[in-house]
Amino acid sequence: MITELKSVRDIWKKMPSEHHGRVFLEEMIWPTGRYCPHCGSVRSVALRCQSARAGLYQCSEHECRRQFTVTTRTPMHSTKLDLRLWIAAIFLVLTSSKGISSVVMSRILGVNQKTAWKLGHAIRELMDDREGIASQLGGIVEVDESFVGGAPKFKKGVKNKRGRGTKKPIVLVAADRNGQAKATLVPNAQGATLGPIMKEWMEPQSILMTDGNRAYRKIGKTFAAHHTVNHGARQYSRPSLGAHINTVEAVNSQVQRALVGVYHRLGRKHLQRYLDEILWRWNHRQPAVKVRQKLTKSGAKTVTTTTWKPIPVVEQMRGLLCCAIGRQMRRTLEWGLTWP
Ligand SMILES: [Zn+2]
Repeated sequence: MITELKSVRDIWKKMPSEHHGRVFLEEMIWPTGRYCPHCGSVRSVALRCQSARAGLYQCSEHECRRQFTVTTRTPMHSTKLDLRLWIAAIFLVLTSSKGISSVVMSRILGVNQKTAWKLGHAIRELMDDREGIASQLGGIVEVDESFVGGAPKFKKGVKNKRGRGTKKPIVLVAADRNGQAKATLVPNAQGATLGPIMKEWMEPQSILMTDGNRAYRKIGKTFAAHHTVNHGARQYSRPSLGAHINTVEAVNSQVQRALVGVYHRLGRKHLQRYLDEILWRWNHRQPAVKVRQKLTKSGAKTVTTTTWKPIPVVEQMRGLLCCAIGRQMRRTLEWGLTWP
């Protein structure tokens, strides 16, 4: 079993043929053993006759009897690519700290840009936790909304509006202080829109931290406590209350950087998918605590610093692929994608 992948080259070294790539994917997609993606039965047989494709199985259930492979009903369904290319694409998405564009991916993998674009979207499809697999945010939860996208094209004499005055897409972000966050695209920044989403995301006993935006006032009353910082008055923290929204602003800056720096000119249609990717990255980090002695005038002092590092890539792959079945995508005639 492969437990570590250090580079794209490492993938080809550890998986010298496509067969090895298939075995790797089978371990990831069926962690508790093979099962039929059509009926869920654990009884199936491998088809080894000459005409059978590699990795083909047949369900042994009387009513089902259908054939399947490891990619059936996943975003990789009926792929013609070498499965190691899929593993490499997943590796690239998971290890690039701000995301990877389809142009760059196509150069690294040696595939067509359109193919790379589809690979990217298939992987993002897996990163979506729409079934609420991830638990609710708890403890101290910071919430903020942001307007995404770069500044409009410079025009002499035209003063562009900022933030609320623009027609840029609005993203609602919530982050707790244990390293977990959620984000979604919202049609407007009114309390009636934001409230229900926040209720779904957060445990009722959490402590809410926001900026002075009035939209949060009413919903704030439904949580254990609600503290605000008033950025307009240059108030960025209230140490006595532990009030600040620096965590959520860090998530926001990741969103801005990825969207402006990597995925510019992004359609609204796909924005949620890119958010899923950015949030996946945020939510799959682990804290590394360093303790060191610092000499001061009054003697030695213990200083602890916490840095957040991505969890190992194979472990992330396991989390990503174990929910792959049932997330099939289809190609449309115009090179688009649909999700049946
Ligand atoms: Zn079956």
